[in-house]
Amino acid sequence: MGGATLALEGRRIRVRGLVQGVGFRPFVWRLARDLGLAGDVRNDGEGVLIAAWGGGAALDALEARLRAEAPPLARVASVEVAVLNGSAPQGFCIADSGGGEAHTAIPPDAATCPACLAEVQDLAERRHGYAFANCTHCGPRLSIAHAIPWDRPNTAMATFPLCPACRAEYDDPADRRFHAQPIACPVCGPRLWLEGAEGGGDPIAATAALLREGAIVAIKGLGGFHLACDALNADAVAELRRRKARDAKPFALMAACPEALCEVSEAARVLLESAAAPIVLLPRRAPVPAALAPDQDHLGVMLPATPLHHLLLEAFGGPLVMTSGNRSDEPQVIDNEEARERLGAIADAFLMHDRPILNRLDDSVLALDEAQAPMPLRRARGFAPAPITLPFADLPATLAMGGELKATFALIGGGEAIVSQHIGDLEQASALDDYRAMIELYRRLFTFTPKIVAVDAHAGYLSTQLGEALARESGARLIRVAHHHAHMAACLADNGVGEGEHLGLLLDGLGLGEEGALWGGEILAGGYRAARRVGGLAAVPLIGGVAAMREPWRNLLAHLRHAFGRDWRAQAQPVLAHLPDPARLKLAEAMLESGTHCPPCSSAGRLFDAVAAALGLHPARISHEGQAAMALETLARPFADQEAPYPLGYGAPLWRTLLADLAAGVEPGRIAARFHLGLAEALAQQAARHGTRGQVVALSGGVMQNRVLLAALRARLRARGLVPLAHRQVPANDGGLALGQGIVAALKGRKTCN
Ligand code: ZN
Ligand code: ZN
Ligand code: FE
Repeated sequence: MGGATLALEGRRIRVRGLVQGVGFRPFVWRLARDLGLAGDVRNDGEGVLIAAWGGGAALDALEARLRAEAPPLARVASVEVAVLNGSAPQGFCIADSGGGEAHTAIPPDAATCPACLAEVQDLAERRHGYAFANCTHCGPRLSIAHAIPWDRPNTAMATFPLCPACRAEYDDPADRRFHAQPIACPVCGPRLWLEGAEGGGDPIAATAALLREGAIVAIKGLGGFHLACDALNADAVAELRRRKARDAKPFALMAACPEALCEVSEAARVLLESAAAPIVLLPRRAPVPAALAPDQDHLGVMLPATPLHHLLLEAFGGPLVMTSGNRSDEPQVIDNEEARERLGAIADAFLMHDRPILNRLDDSVLALDEAQAPMPLRRARGFAPAPITLPFADLPATLAMGGELKATFALIGGGEAIVSQHIGDLEQASALDDYRAMIELYRRLFTFTPKIVAVDAHAGYLSTQLGEALARESGARLIRVAHHHAHMAACLADNGVGEGEHLGLLLDGLGLGEEGALWGGEILAGGYRAARRVGGLAAVPLIGGVAAMREPWRNLLAHLRHAFGRDWRAQAQPVLAHLPDPARLKLAEAMLESGTHCPPCSSAGRLFDAVAAALGLHPARISHEGQAAMALETLARPFADQEAPYPLGYGAPLWRTLLADLAAGVEPGRIAARFHLGLAEALAQQAARHGTRGQVVALSGGVMQNRVLLAALRARLRARGLVPLAHRQVPANDGGLALGQGIVAALKGRKTCN
């Protein structure tokens, strides 16, 4: 190849997407060597830049193979080619990341790859049985990063100098571990130990033995601590639930073989085995301890995602509960000392290690919809901070603060959004601290200086207040975005829909609407720039304000009063048992009468709570929002295909029919299904009145996580010629809010910023 200079052609190839920190440069190096090309490859601020000289056919092959054979964690968004003049250099090399603005983006954490797993299981390998093996294609990323560039000294691995063997792998472009920042081995890397239990030996074997005896063990994982116990030991599961206190949320499981407990569809398998290795909600098929997932017909299951978890599951030999290591609603613990302190009363022992978790990353959770398409419910480990490509270009740098519950924030700029991992409920002091720290971290990692700060219209949200302060300090422009408009925009952007006249069907717990109204069941018409309310649920009082979030009977009473007026009691015989004692009832009625602490709210979430309460599902109290509604969905699922919908979906006709069904002893599941279908029918009818054929309907808000409702809605919207869109990349709940909020604000600010 060396002499034929006349035939040599030069090309400058720009690769964009998730191409840094994923082994792209050594991949290009190997391709170039394979194809006999000369030139170099480097990372810069825009992605990967290749200068290549060779024959036309070889260069064509390079372009094709860049996409087709990209490393497992890479996501190639585009490949742009230009002619390169000048003369060819000798050979092909990997150039340094260069100085200036150029830096390597931080990729999401990735599950152990097959090659690393094989090494860990191979007696002859030096990483046999090693809990922290990783390579270019797998291992910790965001969880251990604190600064850019993505180099070892800027990670939690800074205190583990590479041994000569690891160093040789790190320096060899032909090795799978070339420039893999977190690599480690038993000689130079992090160590595991077991605390709080007798005896020495292998900490993993000892942990497995404890778990077999029914113990609860706190296990330090990738993005935080888990609390683990034998998932099939009913006593251990019940004891864990008792010690965690007040929490009725389902426990997640980790299983090497989820088929033993659940139906695993092909789509579910793909998700489970993806590099993100999320928790996937799978239909339960085997009997499991009741305390595992009360009221649920699905179990949240993930595969082992780190060598530690692979080794532990192998040693244990069955499914484990792997629930967040926290007390009640607090964020997951990440620090060893903090774990001893806060989990000491819950865990019998601690499986610890000395690789610090710098950034908390909860397990991500996905469900599959009726078409087996993935629906994110919680986006964290394995997904953040991967960029989301937007249907826009040139958006001004915008920091979107998001909501208050299930909080996330987003950095928006150019044509991309970086949505943070799920942080939690900001009312928890430690979640708020984390939220602040993560905003600082992301701004550092992505060298991001916002020109615009986007906040929810609700001035009481802690995220709004923090955003106001940030805007004041930095001089950035503050833009307030209505809650449900942000939900609608999030769903549009999530599906790559650009500007235009669209519809939004936004169902959630509560958000601030126009003129101080509390919304949660709205139909909006418009687009990113503006949207107006054209329909939705009727406003019904929230008796006692926030108390109505915790006590579903309040919503039942409010809806009965709304439907039937003062003599609701005459109609309500079948549900009287689910209402409280006369004294409390009387007080609530007096509040309704005078309107004190009874703000009207068109919340779909509270309507679900009311119907659930009517069926006796947790009427007195729920421990988390959505608990009663989720129980109602589970009840409805087996009947959702067969039942006829209730008339008009909500209001007096609904309640009259529902109460008659109850009085006639109709099975609760049928009633639940008829309610879901009736609501879907009514909303689809309303939407169709305001929509035209082929118009997009963005379906968003936390209630859209209800897959029975979502399926019914989509079928009915499609039947009317509309194009319903559900979330695919960010959650429908407030975890997706920041994305929409940021785009709305960025578009509003674009005119004035440029
Ligand atoms: Zn690997
Ligand atoms: Zn080593
Ligand atoms: Fe919301």
